[in-house]
Amino acid sequence: QLNIVQLTKSFGPTQVLRAVDLRVERGEFITLLGPSGCGKTTLLRIIAGLESPDQGDVLADDISILGTDAKDRNLAMVFQNYALYPHLTVAQNIGLPLTMRRLTRLQRMAGRFGISRTAREVRRQISADVGRVADSLQIGSLLNRLPSQLSGGQRQRVALGRAMVRNPRILLLDEPLSNLDAQLRVHMRMELTALHRQSGATFIFVTHDQSEAMTMSDRIAVILNGRVAQVATPGELYDNPASLDVAQFVGTPK
Ligand code: ATP
Repeated sequence: QLNIVQLTKSFGPTQVLRAVDLRVERGEFITLLGPSGCGKTTLLRIIAGLESPDQGDVLADDISILGTDAKDRNLAMVFQNYALYPHLTVAQNIGLPLTMRRLTRLQRMAGRFGISRTAREVRRQISADVGRVADSLQIGSLLNRLPSQLSGGQRQRVALGRAMVRNPRILLLDEPLSNLDAQLRVHMRMELTALHRQSGATFIFVTHDQSEAMTMSDRIAVILNGRVAQVATPGELYDNPASLDVAQFVGTPK
């Protein structure tokens, strides 16, 4: 469903992506695994529409999405630092993407319908959607707290909630577990794989941690020096690394 074709990107003299080809199947959990600086985040940002490539294309169901507005791509991204709004409650943080979208739509319709009644109805729907997502992430009892009153794991769940609330077709996760302590990281791996199964969305997960990639993914794309060095299931990757570089990276715990 998502086809990345010959994607190339440089920042000044630094070539970050070198003709990257990658096909992502609908509904799969695919991990981009590679050492720091290999271009993983840049690739994710291009898919999200936050960065443009120099050459190449990104196709969703055979149609290029490069020219389209990032918010029309039906995808959501979870950042490494969570990027929560410190002055908004958990409920407001999770509901923000819905509030912005639905209230804008509402304003367009304002001439035709009674605005205040419809606004109340929209708010009620948003709060129901937020409650459902928060419950599924076990933060339903924290809706009125501010981010500063949460633990790292709880903040991570809020960031996931904000991404999931719009039911995106594709979820992009940029090292979302790297700020958590070791025990919580292992626990959140299980939660993320459960969330993936429940949601039916395609997950594109970025990490430099081999064991994270091995335990969570349907397939792993190993990125080395701005190129896709191998795409394989975790088992295939261990049994048959495509090159010495892949074997060295995969076989050396971080
Ligand atoms: P990490 O795991 O450390 O985040 P990464 O594999 O995600 O690494 P990228 O963040 O994609 O790597 O960065 C790849 C290279 O591109 C790095 O050398 C980085 O310094 C450079 N780079 C990324 N963004 C920019 C930018 N906006 N301007 C200049 N150079 C950049």
